[in-house]
Amino acid sequence: MKIVDKFGRGKVIFSLEVFPPKKFTDNIETVYETLDKLTGINPDYISVTYSAGGNGNVEHSSKVASIIKKKYKVESLAHLTCLTSSAEEVDRVINDFRHAGTENILALRGDINPNTQAKNDFKYASDLVKYIKKKYPDMGIAGACYPEIHMESENEVDDILKLKKKVDAGVDFLISQLFFDNEIFYKFLERAQIAGIDVPIEAGIMPVTNANQIQRMVDMCGASLPRKFSKMIQKYGNNPIAMRDAGIAYAVSQIVDLIANGVDGIHLYTMNNPYVASEIYKSIKRLL
Ligand code: FAD
Repeated sequence: MKIVDKFGRGKVIFSLEVFPPKKFTDNIETVYETLDKLTGINPDYISVTYSAGGNGNVEHSSKVASIIKKKYKVESLAHLTCLTSSAEEVDRVINDFRHAGTENILALRGDINPNTQAKNDFKYASDLVKYIKKKYPDMGIAGACYPEIHMESENEVDDILKLKKKVDAGVDFLISQLFFDNEIFYKFLERAQIAGIDVPIEAGIMPVTNANQIQRMVDMCGASLPRKFSKMIQKYGNNPIAMRDAGIAYAVSQIVDLIANGVDGIHLYTMNNPYVASEIYKSIKRLL
């Protein structure tokens, strides 16, 4: 089924993200062990990340998507980047996903990487959205959005106008980049509304349970760190158990506030950590 049809039925969508093993040589069983524990959560869907440019986990992505759908009977959302792929390559991957039972794609451009040659068929995610919409009209299509704007966008206006173009190309619903300050997300929702973006928008929540993750997060996506978040890292960063528990509590407090403010959905970046995801779910499942 198209995932978008799950929205708006008087409940908040709760979804999870997992990543497949990074290399062909890595054991895929470890993801299956994670999935065994995650599906106890009963999510609305599970998304599977995608690494383009020879990082080697493309086949693993469709295997993991297939297990999610066929073994656990949960809808899967397959991420797919397009910048470094030809239309022919995109077709091959989409057909692998379809064969694996996946009916929904998160259409992404992918990061610009000086070591990987871009191809000419797709310049932006909106090109991929249009392509899927036309060639595979039975597939559901999600898109990415950025509460703190995408790092290549000139400003908030430029960012939201480009997002509107992508949605108009055929996106059913959006999933946000992670953020630690809900006020930033609420301002983004206002901009989206003003721009006429009326598809459901899920909030991306990353539980930070290890102080070493922070710098990587900030470098990768430029997320700003509110004072109470930095204070938490300062106080518990050197105590792994306390840091884990504080990170879970922080994510729960973000989610409670988002749900109270009427968010369409919560997308939890699990980092393949079933313990953390389960603890968060236990705290919020009656609020969904
Ligand atoms: P786009 O929507 O194409 O936007 C990219 C930039 O181009 C933006 O600055 C936008 O404003 C601008 N732009 C868009 N259209 C136009 C236009 N017509 N003219 C001029 N400028 C334009 N990466 C992976 O490699 N694998 C993953 O599995 C993955 N999963 C992700 C999941 C989520 C929820 C998110 C938020 C990101 C994910 N990413 C992933 C990262 C993503 O690939 C990068 O952020 C990438 O840099 C942008 O992808 P996009 O699809 O948002 O691009």
